[in-house]
Amino acid sequence: MEQTKIMPNNLLRDFEQYQKEFEDAALLALRSGWYILGEQLCSFEEQFAAYNHAKYCVGLASGLDALWIAFRVLGIGEGDEVIVQANTYIASVMGITINGAVPVFVEPDDYYGIDADRIEEKITGRTKAVLAVHLYGIPCQMDKIVDICNRHKLALVEDCAQSHGASFHGQMTGTFGDVGCFSFYPTKNLGAFGDGGAVLVGSDELDARFRIFRNYGSEEHYKNIIVGANSRLDEIQAGMLKVKLKHLDEITAKRQMIAKRYDEGITNPKFMLPKVRTGCSGVYHQYVIRAEDKEQRESLIEYLDERGIGTIIHYPIPPHLAEAYRYLGYRGGDFPITEHYADTVLSIPMYNGYTEEEQRYVIKALNEF
Ligand SMILES: *Cc1c(COP(=O)(O)O)cnc(C)c1O
Repeated sequence: MEQTKIMPNNLLRDFEQYQKEFEDAALLALRSGWYILGEQLCSFEEQFAAYNHAKYCVGLASGLDALWIAFRVLGIGEGDEVIVQANTYIASVMGITINGAVPVFVEPDDYYGIDADRIEEKITGRTKAVLAVHLYGIPCQMDKIVDICNRHKLALVEDCAQSHGASFHGQMTGTFGDVGCFSFYPTKNLGAFGDGGAVLVGSDELDARFRIFRNYGSEEHYKNIIVGANSRLDEIQAGMLKVKLKHLDEITAKRQMIAKRYDEGITNPKFMLPKVRTGCSGVYHQYVIRAEDKEQRESLIEYLDERGIGTIIHYPIPPHLAEAYRYLGYRGGDFPITEHYADTVLSIPMYNGYTEEEQRYVIKALNEF
């Protein structure tokens, strides 16, 4: 086994478990003669809304589209401020800045979510919304965040690209605020075989605005009432996602079992293991450990690589230090917790199809480091 590389993720193993179902669903969509905005999408939207106990789901072309279109339909743009955690995937921030709005960064808490106790100090007269990112599949502290948004009359958007099926006190992520944004990028917990995304919304009005926006601003053919976009989840991907959704709870349970084995098996005091707040269900999009410092992480990556164990850093450069956001004027040291996380986090193998034997080998290697 030592010679076969253990990948940090392995999409083929996931596919092979439900291969026949995926192939049947693909053929069904192909043979229908209808490829955009049809029956597959319609039934997936209903099923995904029902799964999350949400009123509506609108399928879109990607997670980034879900984010930027959310701010657009909420009327948030030029000069408005959106509060977001500094430790996120850059797409969360691009969803804000594509609209000309300004991201106002907040440090994360111990659970990698936005630190709810640091939100209020960042609210100004220009603040319009909070974007909570359930990073790695760990829910943010939603009771406090909802309360802050209500008291300050701010919109609440959730980035659920990594949290399909995760819940806070029994309520699904994506249903706490105005819009829950999802990605179905292939590596996500609910992944398609190409790009895809969706939003969950609780109001008829927002549902209609997303539907109109995603289709060139038209509800009726050739009657374009606003300048919209082309952002639609296609029939083939919707069909694939219906298959995956049927198995999502079982896939999540497998991820949680893998996480439990890591929690119990990794005893090396050099590593900080991830935590999930009590009363929450985390879905372990990633299992992220932390080294003591950047140098130790470097040697750990090399050590694991020599043993055929692949790892990934999510994410090595926080958005405020990305070249794309140099215009915001931040410098190293501005968000020390975020920067410390960026220097020390490491995602170890976590996927549907990761065997117990492989995992035992990985745990042993970590403990012997
Ligand atoms: C993947 C991801 C996105 C973007 O989704 P795409 O479908 O790739 O556009 C946004 N936010 C987070 C936290 C993500 O992990």
